[in-house]
Amino acid sequence: MQQHNLLTTFVHAGRKKRFSQGSVNPVLQRASSLVFDSIEDKKHATQHRAKGELFYGRRGTLTHFALQDLMCEMEGGAGCYFYPCGAAAVTNSILSFVKTGDHVLMSGAAYEPTQDFCNIVLKKMQIDTTYYDPLIGADIATLIQPNTKVLFLEAPSSITMEIPDIPTIVKAARKVNPNIVIMIDNTWSAGVLFKALEHDIDISIQAGTKYLVGHSDIMIGTAVANARTWDQLREHSYLMGQMVDADSAYTTARGIRTLGVRLKQHQESSIKVAKWLSEQPEVKTVYHPALPSCPGHEFFLRDFSGSSGLFSFELTKRLTSEQVSNFMDHFQLFTMAYSWGGFESLILCNQPEEIAHIRPNIKRNLTGSLIRVHIGFEDVDELIADLKAGFERIA
Ligand SMILES: *Cc1c(COP(=O)(O)O)cnc(C)c1O
Repeated sequence: MQQHNLLTTFVHAGRKKRFSQGSVNPVLQRASSLVFDSIEDKKHATQHRAKGELFYGRRGTLTHFALQDLMCEMEGGAGCYFYPCGAAAVTNSILSFVKTGDHVLMSGAAYEPTQDFCNIVLKKMQIDTTYYDPLIGADIATLIQPNTKVLFLEAPSSITMEIPDIPTIVKAARKVNPNIVIMIDNTWSAGVLFKALEHDIDISIQAGTKYLVGHSDIMIGTAVANARTWDQLREHSYLMGQMVDADSAYTTARGIRTLGVRLKQHQESSIKVAKWLSEQPEVKTVYHPALPSCPGHEFFLRDFSGSSGLFSFELTKRLTSEQVSNFMDHFQLFTMAYSWGGFESLILCNQPEEIAHIRPNIKRNLTGSLIRVHIGFEDVDELIADLKAGFERIA
């Protein structure tokens, strides 16, 4: 297949005639039962059930196949599996490759529910997890044990936004064990600002809930795998009953059509807000990957093709609980919510001790309250004015 620029891929991929049947978008094919015309037909479908033939709803319909096609072209994989949410994509990807007695290497700055899954569910299966500092670089090699099956990365880190030296980590790990399965939670980059599979990572996972959908109204998880890992990921996820409904798959493909323009705007607006923040006396450090103050900024410049809209900043002081309420409760445009990746701006506040609690084996000296923002598509000067008014409330 001809390689297109990503901007073209977002618009054109996954729209083969077989999927669209004459319309612009793929058909919305809702189905549990898919009917066969003959015994021969049924036999063919059964033989090719993992290769895009209509077989049974749990293996997908034309709507799913269209999105799979689109995701594979976008991220450069051999296959893409869908899950009902990002958390399911993370956990089922790991579960597809581990058994009792194995060991997992997990970023100590990973998304908190990912860590909880390791601490509670994997532990119950006697699978040990070692947490590493995302800035570990080549020293990752010292943590690999004979039973280490999965190396899991997340870039940038949740909330603290460190960018790991991924090529160095991957190379060092493969040198010790070429067969280690390397996965990344690639949600921040929408799977495209960092091309994980081109960096010898096996599986690129996303909470499609965020940027793929882009409108804060659908949940979906995606995992794009290379040829080496695709069969096992697919069959194990299938056996664990993972799937997503056709409506969510349809809406996700619809979201991706505008991903190119959305990411450009997230980048432009978030960098403008981040630069403004870096000049405010109330702000100690801005953790935006595109700014030199973000740990691993040099790796961001080298390995990423751009920035999305989520970043954090540390205040010079730890806000009292009264100040937190004064600051957070009165924004005109920023709303408080978990999740991100939609068209709207969001804000959350974390205290330094709360962050320390979810950073196993990592020493950072955060002293001020850490504010995470997602910069949406409002007028950027109005967003800045909203933050400025917030600082006045805690002066
Ligand atoms: C939101 C998120 C998830 C989980 O996705 P859900 O769709 O909410 O289950 C996983 N990883 C990261 C980095 C996320 O931001």
